[in-house]
Amino acid sequence: MSKQKIKKLLIGTNNKGKLSEIKSLLPKNIKIYSTSVYNVSSPIENGKTFKENSLIKSKYFSKKTGLICLADDSGLEIDFLNKNPGIYSARWGGRHGDFSKAIRRVYRELNKKDKNWKNKKIKARFVCALSISYLNKKIACVLGKVEGYISNEPRGKNGFGYDPIFIPFNKRKTFGEMKPSQKYKMDHRFHAFKKIKKFL
Ligand code: IMP
Repeated sequence: MSKQKIKKLLIGTNNKGKLSEIKSLLPKNIKIYSTSVYNVSSPIENGKTFKENSLIKSKYFSKKTGLICLADDSGLEIDFLNKNPGIYSARWGGRHGDFSKAIRRVYRELNKKDKNWKNKKIKARFVCALSISYLNKKIACVLGKVEGYISNEPRGKNGFGYDPIFIPFNKRKTFGEMKPSQKYKMDHRFHAFKKIKKFL
């Protein structure tokens, strides 16, 4: 976009937790709209990458509402598991989004691959794609990442998803053991927001 700044923005998610987290990262002068008042269901996320899925969402919700839309897609890549769960991170939790189930699956897959995996450093990263679209047109699409390792067992009750098993580089605690304020300044979403801010 040119110098014209965005004044109204729809957040393309039906997930209330995500909506409030994204709101807190956005400049306060932008009027935020949520999908709940428009009563639209979520699109099928059939992209092959985080960026593709975030664009599917931002274009879909923009077309449904006529508003400029910001959407995200995120997940955990584990190198030793060929970057899985990756774009399937939410799906590993099953239909009810059971995060302990998703974590059990990570450990099951690691054990299948190598019984001795706990003696190795299992490199992983959280990735967040953010995109802004207006109708079918992409305005911006960026990627933020935080690199780290998988812990040998889940630790901590903070956060959500895979937080209890992810230790960022140069830290001892998992995201699940950190205060939200500590995690927030180093995570994948924060890095993606830093990049997309210039388009807002
Ligand atoms: P999405 O709603 O399709 O973007 O799915 C994201 C999924 O990735 C979530 O359901 C979590 O399982 C996982 N995930 C994304 N970001 C985080 C995070 O910051 N901590 C823990 N898990 C995350």
